[in-house]
Amino acid sequence: MQPFNDDADVVHFINGRHVPGSGTRKQPIFNPATGSPARMVHLGDASDVSAAVASGKQAFQGWSNTPPIRRARVMRRFLELMNQYKDELAAIMTAEHGKVFSDAQGEVARGIDVIEFACGIPQLLKGDHTEQVSTDIDNWTTRQPLGVVAGITPFNFPCMVPCWMFPIAIAAGNAFILKPSERDPSASLYMARLLQEAGLPDGVFNVVQGDKVVVDALLEHPDVKAISFVGSTPIANYIYETGAKHGKRIQALGGAKNHMVVMPDADIDQAVDALVGAGYGSAGERCMAISVAVLVGDVADKLIPRLADRARSVIVKNGMEADAEMGPIVTRQALERIENYIAIGLEEGASLVVDGRGLKVPGHEEGFFTGATLFDHVTPEMRIYQEEIFGPVLSCVRAKDFTEAVDLVNAHEFGNGVACYTRDGHVAREFGRRIEVGMVGINVPIPVPMAWHGFGGWKRSLFGDTHAYGEEGVRFYTRQKSIMQRWPESIEQGAEFAMPTAR
Ligand code: NAD
Repeated sequence: MQPFNDDADVVHFINGRHVPGSGTRKQPIFNPATGSPARMVHLGDASDVSAAVASGKQAFQGWSNTPPIRRARVMRRFLELMNQYKDELAAIMTAEHGKVFSDAQGEVARGIDVIEFACGIPQLLKGDHTEQVSTDIDNWTTRQPLGVVAGITPFNFPCMVPCWMFPIAIAAGNAFILKPSERDPSASLYMARLLQEAGLPDGVFNVVQGDKVVVDALLEHPDVKAISFVGSTPIANYIYETGAKHGKRIQALGGAKNHMVVMPDADIDQAVDALVGAGYGSAGERCMAISVAVLVGDVADKLIPRLADRARSVIVKNGMEADAEMGPIVTRQALERIENYIAIGLEEGASLVVDGRGLKVPGHEEGFFTGATLFDHVTPEMRIYQEEIFGPVLSCVRAKDFTEAVDLVNAHEFGNGVACYTRDGHVAREFGRRIEVGMVGINVPIPVPMAWHGFGGWKRSLFGDTHAYGEEGVRFYTRQKSIMQRWPESIEQGAEFAMPTAR
């Protein structure tokens, strides 16, 4: 395989070729650790989307007729290549997103899990069969691919989130168009090249770079049958409503405000470790990051001093350095937005225990860095409690007992992830049952489900009926057909006017 060309513009990948496209706009991609533009990404237009859809439609004819086991074998080769090149892919993400290298490696590994799941597609597509639903009649169901489907992905997981979508969609027999985030788009082209190397026919996987213009063209194109979206809640809502108006199947995963409830019987050191890792890991730019600690009873007095010490000592530097615990924020605008929320928190009357603003990393003075920030005495009326900050800002809220903690979490508009730290089995069980959140961790701070379980939140964290990947992912990218069959030898003469029933 050709080495990845770091200097080239990031273009589209349509019908097996890198193409500049017909769109005339470009925008810089920054290295957030240095604050400098590294290269340009081409922003596509409706003609680029039409070219990708035409290529996908053409490829779909042959690909959907390829036996599932042969499609799975292509996935298997792709899986091997992803394992072979995983560190190259992780380094690309650290350079464009800023996350520390070990975290980027973890992201690739979680993407690879879904590819491995997609290799089992022959088993996953196997239908149900009933012999003798009526005398001499059999009935079976099968799942067939939809056609050309698309995925629109966020900046925070440039490899893993696309991998929640395309391996399953493609293995199921669809053609796929990826519209990655314009802030860190290079991973998409790297994976396109590996898919091609794995033997995927041209046109089955296309990438169109761009912004709202491309998204709207995908939403409006009559030959795009389904769209998976992952990103912020306002855009998820827009995708869901607009896609539905255009008759598409939509799965739109949105934003989050994830709580971690710490009960008085929890191991406080474990809870502090969990809050630091889940609050500040990846600079808080994870939809499963913990951004609210709900401290029950007398937990706050014991926990906050230790948490503050640990937050102050988080090592923030260029993510490629071995001891980095937190890298820079993805863009200058995102950094300003985060630091603005810290100012809002102060105005609202929260206690700023650790202030990460204005951090300068020696040798990287122009990088988009901020330190870990910790607020105490945050209350539900505050904007810093209600809104997604998407940065390394952790808010502590106090609750008098378990019921108050559960009610607080359940009243929030988001319902992506939640955790509860406790040693009490009954509390853990009740928490799992009563909490209105899609993904729950008991003593697990970031409970991202494994590839075969499916990922998705509740409430305004997900618009649509199915979760991403796992068996729900297979259902999203396929439609069920029921076939009922009998043969002339068993058909009685004469028309039947009554509703047919089992005989
Ligand atoms: P974003 O909503 O700004 O962008 C997501 C995608 O939508 C990108 O591809 C972008 O180009 C496109 N987009 C942006 N503005 C648009 C517009 N006006 N019209 C149409 N398309 C538009 O999100 P982001 O900043 O890239 O990612 C962070 C957000 O994603 C956070 O809110 C985070 O919680 C969420 N997220 C959610 C999950 C989940 O599984 N629920 C996972 C990862 C990220």
